Amino acid sequence: MTSLFGLDLRDKRIVVAGGGIVATRRLRRFLSEGAEVVVISPEVSDDIARLASHHDIEWRQRTIEEADLEGAWFILLATDDREVNARLSARAAQLRVWCINASDAAQGTARAAATSTHGDLAIGVVSLDAPDPARVRAVRDAIAAVVDGGEVDLRRHRPGAGRVILVGSGPGDAGMLTIRGRQALSEADVVVTDRLGSSAILSSLPYDVEVVNVGKSPDNHPVPQAEINRILVERALEGKSVVRLKGGDPFVFGRGGEEVNACLSAGVDYEVVPGVTSALSVPASVGIPVTQRGVATSVLVTTGHAGADQAAIASMLAGATVVVLMGVTALPAIASAAIAAGVDEDTPVAVVESGTTARERVTRGPLADIARIASETGVKPPAVIVIGEVARPDLLASLVAATPQ
Ligand code: SAH
Repeated sequence: MTSLFGLDLRDKRIVVAGGGIVATRRLRRFLSEGAEVVVISPEVSDDIARLASHHDIEWRQRTIEEADLEGAWFILLATDDREVNARLSARAAQLRVWCINASDAAQGTARAAATSTHGDLAIGVVSLDAPDPARVRAVRDAIAAVVDGGEVDLRRHRPGAGRVILVGSGPGDAGMLTIRGRQALSEADVVVTDRLGSSAILSSLPYDVEVVNVGKSPDNHPVPQAEINRILVERALEGKSVVRLKGGDPFVFGRGGEEVNACLSAGVDYEVVPGVTSALSVPASVGIPVTQRGVATSVLVTTGHAGADQAAIASMLAGATVVVLMGVTALPAIASAAIAAGVDEDTPVAVVESGTTARERVTRGPLADIARIASETGVKPPAVIVIGEVARPDLLASLVAATPQ
């Protein structure tokens, strides 16, 4: 019979006999859990040799002896000799050290679980009978997919200290929310949001999760930042897990900094879950690489809020890609300031509205005409404006043609 326990392997010595594929795979897991790993084997895989040369593990380049097992908290026997493994598992039992025998699970006192971690939760699956790794992994994968899918209510039942998690929701498509972001949402007691694009994500929350919408709509003013900060801190001080869901990445024109500052000032724990920023992902999703070998080696991300800024114009003059967020209104001013400063009138520009959503639309034109074209096509926010050679419509097709076979 096998029981499943969670072991704390940090700083515990684990002796691994053997250096082949089984040893390598398992050892990676021990390492990621902070164990002190000693490998004993005359020959090892390239991966183990490299880890040893970086001193991430200790490698004793010789045949294992019984004395090597002493002082270990856990032993993995994965030599290619069944008899050696059998002899050493008997010795491990005498020493009262848990041991996995990779060549015969029944001979060991432990067996490996197929595991996955999800934020602060770990899932483990073991077979109680004859080992069948592929079957055990299939069960693990199925459970992991459900947990990562955001379908499980992971709110805490034991009250703990509240906290604020800033989550970047990505550009709009629900598939671009990170797995960590999804986990944070399934743990949330409160979600503070301001974004239309995240409706699909919000619709899967349990009904009793409080959703506070602080976004602006056509007929009401946006909630002032100080008020948002107050809501976040107040709910967290009540012991709640508060997710602040923000478009793209929380720290790219997202005022995430002010919200973290409010948490720090109030002594509230916080975490930042990075998001896929629209600045890079919206161009990418319509086939515009913001950097491209031989075309553009730098990219500047700026806001069009205050018209054209000097850094943006200098970057255009230097041939860098300039990505403008919140720039629809200022597009005419930006284009004319750039041309007045000497930027080529023919510089390609692409304006991508509502990227990665069903309303996605791309409008292109040269710098000299883009403001007129955008106004004729009725371009509306949210839109990402890409200025530079990378926005040339035929860029990717012409690269393929130019690549020597
Ligand atoms: N933190 C966000 C940016 C917030 S500023 C991020 O990292 O993406 C808001 C601006 O982001 C919008 O005015 C627009 O310029 C841009 N934006 C966000 N989502 C977008 C989308 N799906 N398509 C086009 N632009 C988008």
